[in-house]
Amino acid sequence: MIRFLIIAGLIYFLYRKYQSWSKSVAGRHADEKALEDVMVQDPYCETYFPRREGIPLSMDGQELLFCSPKCRDDFAALHSKTSTGG
Ligand SMILES: [Zn+2]
Repeated sequence: MIRFLIIAGLIYFLYRKYQSWSKSVAGRHADEKALEDVMVQDPYCETYFPRREGIPLSMDGQELLFCSPKCRDDFAALHSKTSTGG
């Protein structure tokens, strides 16, 4: 009986995985690598982009990601006006 429960659980797990997989494939033509990607939002221009393509910037101990070096630089310039020197 326990073996049956394990198999049933496995089937349910695979079924859920297949559902989320088929949903994203149906939505748009994406390859398997893109499925692993997480979309993040640029805090400066509010554009969404894949996390692995983000331009990182460390600020106040946390890492921010931007869609382009220009956005990163503009954001950094906005937030560094109060600091002295440069
Ligand atoms: Zn941007």
